[in-house]
Amino acid sequence: MFADLHLHTTESDGTWTPEELVREARGAGLAALAVTDHDTTAGIEAALKAARKDLQVIPGIELSAAGHNGEEVHIVGLWINPAYEPLQNKLTALRKERIARVEKILDRLDGLGIFLSEADVQEFSHRDVLSRSHIASAMVKKGIVQTKQEAFDAYIGQGAPAYVKRPKLTPEQAVELIRGAGGVPVLAHPGLLTDLNVLPSLLDAGLVGLEVIHYSHTEKQTQHFLEVAKELNLLPSGGSDCHGPGGKDHIYLGKYKIPWNWLEDLAQARDGLK
Ligand SMILES: [Zn+2]
Ligand SMILES: [Zn+2]
Repeated sequence: MFADLHLHTTESDGTWTPEELVREARGAGLAALAVTDHDTTAGIEAALKAARKDLQVIPGIELSAAGHNGEEVHIVGLWINPAYEPLQNKLTALRKERIARVEKILDRLDGLGIFLSEADVQEFSHRDVLSRSHIASAMVKKGIVQTKQEAFDAYIGQGAPAYVKRPKLTPEQAVELIRGAGGVPVLAHPGLLTDLNVLPSLLDAGLVGLEVIHYSHTEKQTQHFLEVAKELNLLPSGGSDCHGPGGKDHIYLGKYKIPWNWLEDLAQARDGLK
């Protein structure tokens, strides 16, 4: 029996609805999956409802945080209680700050003689989440730039004149929020980080797991992170990080999965945290 503990749905940037994800996971022969959408718990309920006895659904989340060097650090939370109020309050505050950020960017563009309305940007977003990617799409449509990359390079990317920093949690705050919500915090895809200097303070904050298996990890990295986990007394975890068909990557569902005893160890750790 295998589990995939890192998956996205249409509630963040995936292309399968929570119901479709559960159906596909069943088809791929998985016995457990975790719904870990970016900074939202909105897909959990539907996935839980779609689950049947043959497939365990674990309520999760993937929190985006900014490390000390500015590098993006992702923390996956497994078995979180989505009703935990401090978590929802923080997620709501972050969403509001991100909307304010888009307004600030539009103001700065305005100052550069480029007029874009929020409606122009909204056209490219299917949810209430607006991002720089949507601004870039609107700039291409208006003929201000030829490509989205050009929009980032010349206007809205880091160091460009209309750049505004994105409000983020610290990785330690992310770990604490997940622990508060009764969940098991796991450092996501460590292979994508330029260094692992973030680990000691995350351990202090209460990190429990390390993603050893992830589609971006080479075989060598998988071996390496398994050793790192052992050394630091972290439990190995992982998954495909699948975003569905037509998404930002290939369909990795069923190709990157963890053995059942890893899931059991993580579940046991969760019970010990309470
Ligand atoms: Zn991630
Ligand atoms: Zn992810």
